[in-house]
Amino acid sequence: MEKKHKESELQAHTGVDVFRCYQCGKCTAGCVLAADMTYPPSYVMRLLQTGSKENYEKILKSNSIWLCLNCENCLGRCPMEIDIPKMMDYLRTQSVQENQLHPDAKPILSFHKSFLDSIKFTGRLYEVGLIAAFKARTFRITQDLTIAPAMYLKGKLPIIPERIRDRRGMKRIFAQTIENPKKAHS
Ligand code: SF4
Ligand code: SF4
Repeated sequence: MEKKHKESELQAHTGVDVFRCYQCGKCTAGCVLAADMTYPPSYVMRLLQTGSKENYEKILKSNSIWLCLNCENCLGRCPMEIDIPKMMDYLRTQSVQENQLHPDAKPILSFHKSFLDSIKFTGRLYEVGLIAAFKARTFRITQDLTIAPAMYLKGKLPIIPERIRDRRGMKRIFAQTIENPKKAHS
């Protein structure tokens, strides 16, 4: 039962039918992160094909879904045109919703949140704010601090944030999408 449920949910959200994968391994051979992943992409496909709840949870708890860069190398190489990057995106969302995060996910999520906060409040990427928020969330206070002066002198770290005019509009977009995903898909 679980098997059918998870597979059909994944297919409904991503269009990926895991049974179209015939384990040729081309995705893994072309993935630059495969060697660092708990399970390389073709292995993720195989685990999904088993339909077991345990294997599904193994994927959600793995670092594979968080290390994936969505570079689409795997998609470009797959003879079956299986959209692994889209599937990885979906699995990341599931991992967050089911609170099954791998430790590698935490700094990545902190970066995502800090990035989105910058966009929400200024309408643009404000690098200093992004770095400050990321460091506050991860307690990586001193990491990369030595390169900041050189970046500042090259004009890469403006102190005053650039802001778009319609910031209310930007907040409205957030309210209708990221902060209210149900409304976004209705
Ligand atoms: S999209 Fe992800 S899984 Fe596919 S090749 Fe790139 S990093 Fe690897
Ligand atoms: S390239 Fe496509 S068919 Fe081959 S193992 Fe990867 S997902 Fe499966």
